[in-house]
Amino acid sequence: MESAILHRSLGKAYPTAVSGQGVYLITDNGQKILDGSSGAAVSSLGHGNTEVIEAVVTQARNLSFAHTSFFTSDPAEELARVIIDRSNGAFSKVTFLSSGSEAVETALKIARQHHIYNGEPERIHIIGRMHAYHGNTLGALAAGNNPPRRDAFSPLLSSAFHHVSRCFYDADGQGMSEGVYEDRLISEIESKIETLGPKTVAAMIVEPVGGATLGSVPPTRTYLPRLKDLCSRYGILLIFDEVMCGMGRVGSYHAWQQLGGVAPDLQTIGKGLGAGYQPLSAVLLAPKVVAAFEEGSKKSLKFTSGHTFQGHSMGCAGALAVHRILKRDQLISHVGEMGMLLESVLQKGLLSEINEYAVSMRGMGLFRTVDFGRMQVALGGPLAQEVADETFRRGAAVYTCSPAVDAILFAPPFIITAKEVAELSDIFVSALRAVTKRRK
Ligand code: PLP
Repeated sequence: MESAILHRSLGKAYPTAVSGQGVYLITDNGQKILDGSSGAAVSSLGHGNTEVIEAVVTQARNLSFAHTSFFTSDPAEELARVIIDRSNGAFSKVTFLSSGSEAVETALKIARQHHIYNGEPERIHIIGRMHAYHGNTLGALAAGNNPPRRDAFSPLLSSAFHHVSRCFYDADGQGMSEGVYEDRLISEIESKIETLGPKTVAAMIVEPVGGATLGSVPPTRTYLPRLKDLCSRYGILLIFDEVMCGMGRVGSYHAWQQLGGVAPDLQTIGKGLGAGYQPLSAVLLAPKVVAAFEEGSKKSLKFTSGHTFQGHSMGCAGALAVHRILKRDQLISHVGEMGMLLESVLQKGLLSEINEYAVSMRGMGLFRTVDFGRMQVALGGPLAQEVADETFRRGAAVYTCSPAVDAILFAPPFIITAKEVAELSDIFVSALRAVTKRRK
């Protein structure tokens, strides 16, 4: 029967997923697919976790929804406190939304309003980075820079958004030390601020570990602390978008905790927050931003933003259960161990491609990318989509990064075992070999 859904590709027939258990998804024709990317780094606890399901169902029975214009709720309050407690003083308030894009939009609006409260309404500009992805709504698309996703809409995107270079030392830093590369990036950002007018920039937004577009690119060692220092000197708010790389995905609760340890002024989280059991995202606010809002509210100013489903009780109850399990089962340290195993198993499996085509790996925790290096030159064009399709046919789902790199992102559930890591790697390597043979 023809699908009634407006799918991403209308010419493609999508298999129907009907159930899930652990790291596997099952289709209506009985195919078992190892979820090697947790969708898009979402299903961190895998599928069919009865504890999370029970928490959501119990909450639904007690209270499914109460609009935040009138009420707060126990699960939202409790989840906010848990996140604040696990962030070691970095944040003092949280607001919950449904998607990562909504969280990014909200963070940008909070930044703007922070400056209005502080008597600097002229701060309107937002600086993002090339090849970043911050979501699909118009503001988030404008903040990011992923050409295929934004080009059709560029006439609709605000001219208040500006972009500087990405931080991708392995690709862009050839012939330079890491320090010199970092100096260049920081001085480029400073020049951009000076050109725009230092008192007109509201915020800078970055993914601490690049995700959807470039595939798990960690920054150079002191890039994030230097960025925070630069932004602070100019009174600019720094936003870390951890929608994809946060919530344990790279082996720490927040990615920035391993990347210089400096907290942002605002942070977005999503995806792994509800782990796919509920659509939930959030913006985390540093005490200094909260202070501006408190001052504003004394003057009867209001945060003029809100979404119908923000702070949804069922979403927050599910995410509370996710947090409980992450801690009790020490899953974030398991992410570190399984991430290293995945890298070493893939490296072993891809040895001949590494030697012949300079195929490389990068990433942290269970956020790992295989970059096809020179393979696309030798084999007549990009391979990532074809390899991902072949991998799927052979029983595993992996994520295609695009368009700036020819690469595949692995982001399996945190509960993955060593045996399942080996299975994922074997399926992927066999798919790559099949595609290589076809292309030769
Ligand atoms: N921010 C980042 C870093 C993302 O990777 C994504 C989605 O991939 C988003 C924001 C948007 O999240 P959503 O698709 O839930 O709107």
